[in-house]
Amino acid sequence: MADLYSKVYFGNKIIDANQASLSIASSAVLYGLSVYTVFPVSINDKGEVVVFRLEDHFKRLTDSAKIIGMDRFGEEWHLDSFTDAVQELILANDIRSNVFVRATVHVDSQIAGTRSRGLSTVLSMFIYSADSILPRSGARLKTSVWRRIPDYAIPSRAKVNGAYVNSVLAKQDAIDSGYDDCIFLDAQGHVCELSAANVFMVRDNKLITPDATHDLLEGINRRTIIEIARDLDIEVVERSIDLTELYIADEVFACGTSAYLTPVVEIDARTIPSSGKMTKRLGAIHSRVISGNSQEYKRYITIVS
Ligand code: PMP
Repeated sequence: MADLYSKVYFGNKIIDANQASLSIASSAVLYGLSVYTVFPVSINDKGEVVVFRLEDHFKRLTDSAKIIGMDRFGEEWHLDSFTDAVQELILANDIRSNVFVRATVHVDSQIAGTRSRGLSTVLSMFIYSADSILPRSGARLKTSVWRRIPDYAIPSRAKVNGAYVNSVLAKQDAIDSGYDDCIFLDAQGHVCELSAANVFMVRDNKLITPDATHDLLEGINRRTIIEIARDLDIEVVERSIDLTELYIADEVFACGTSAYLTPVVEIDARTIPSSGKMTKRLGAIHSRVISGNSQEYKRYITIVS
């Protein structure tokens, strides 16, 4: 398990991690009514503490709250106040290595019933060690027996805590079967994503990923990889993918904040050519971009200290 840093942000201030608590009668606890995001905070080559795509993470957090109807968050928080809070949190902790920040908006109203609009929310943020959720040398995946929840049931586009039971079921199923993670299929049987990462394949030198209407989370790293690839004049196609296309792909990789960019070496007992050329090339650039060491993509970086 990852290491939790001692100071957290909760209720508009910095407090000790063991003092932050939510009521057992809050909608966050009763119905999983919280939305969240996780972003990396790194120490770059110059020794600066940097945050990757903070504005996009804040936007996805507010979009998630909007989809769910947690309207008070968008009224009460703006990019400037959110950035100040992130800065306060980072400065309150002694950060000496790369970490992740999990920022969550919880509905803290008590016994409010099964509704969302007009209820009070509280922002929590904590820092933990930036451990990968996949083996970095190559992940082995199993098609999940659980399908991805469709947009018409619980939207994956909204990063809502309650929906992550779907990911837990699928990841545990994969682990129980001796794999590292799952491949989710959507309700129609097309390739969707992993339990907490997006998926790409390479076929005939084209980079292909499921388009955003396949019940996936619109990952910030997914978007970054697409941008990097297009800047390198690699053809990128967003379309439906059949599972069997993954089996015969030249390369497959997963990407996400906690998955980094990880080659996939096996799917359902079929070997995928390990860590191919495009995966290595994109992975090297992605790693410099997220850690604030790329001049070309420095627009994605907020320097904190
Ligand atoms: N899909 C799911 C279901 C996730 O939980 C995550 C992790 N946030 C991702 C994809 C990757 O998203 P991101 O690149 O924004 O971390």
